[in-house]
Amino acid sequence: KEKFVTLENLDMMAHNHFPPCMKRLFSNIKTNHHLKHFGRLQFGLFLKGVGLSLDDSLKFWRTEFCNKMTVEKFSKEYEYSIKHSYGKAGKMADYTPWGCRKIIHFPNPSDGEFHGCPFRHAARGELLRILNSYGINEETKASIMQKFPNEPERSCISLFKATHDNTPPDLLEHVGRHPNSYFDASIKYHN
Ligand code: SF4
Repeated sequence: KEKFVTLENLDMMAHNHFPPCMKRLFSNIKTNHHLKHFGRLQFGLFLKGVGLSLDDSLKFWRTEFCNKMTVEKFSKEYEYSIKHSYGKAGKMADYTPWGCRKIIHFPNPSDGEFHGCPFRHAARGELLRILNSYGINEETKASIMQKFPNEPERSCISLFKATHDNTPPDLLEHVGRHPNSYFDASIKYHN
């Protein structure tokens, strides 16, 4: 089975293996054809971490954003920062995808921003919709909703367990610590 995300398998990978923070950003790009600054950074670096190449990444953002703007505007205003996060522009630093601690403790997103951790930052109704999209059992759903907005890492682990039957404990080691680890653990489970 494929391990790395490409433009061709992105939808399937997102559906099967992305943690809720990233599924949420992904579905907002699909709906709004836009994401604000911190959302672009959070999701863009995650995509880099799951192996999406810079070329595919540029194509992805361009295709989505150009539903609402010209290619010229996109190139002028957005391409640079995508290249930058891949270390291909500016300081040429290789930026690391954000971990859960950083995402969870980010200042509260304002209206129209979707970065952050849904177990901490989403509205109740939205979190419920996200949980329903994973098709988890009522018991897990209730226990996550009861904890909300506290203990986001534990909620993420509960969700992972509920969507990966009999998860071997060693797979859970980094779930709730890093969105890319959630993805890696899910891929490993299915292989
Ligand atoms: Fe994402 Fe981490 Fe929150 Fe899970 S705990 S939704 S991986 S930020």
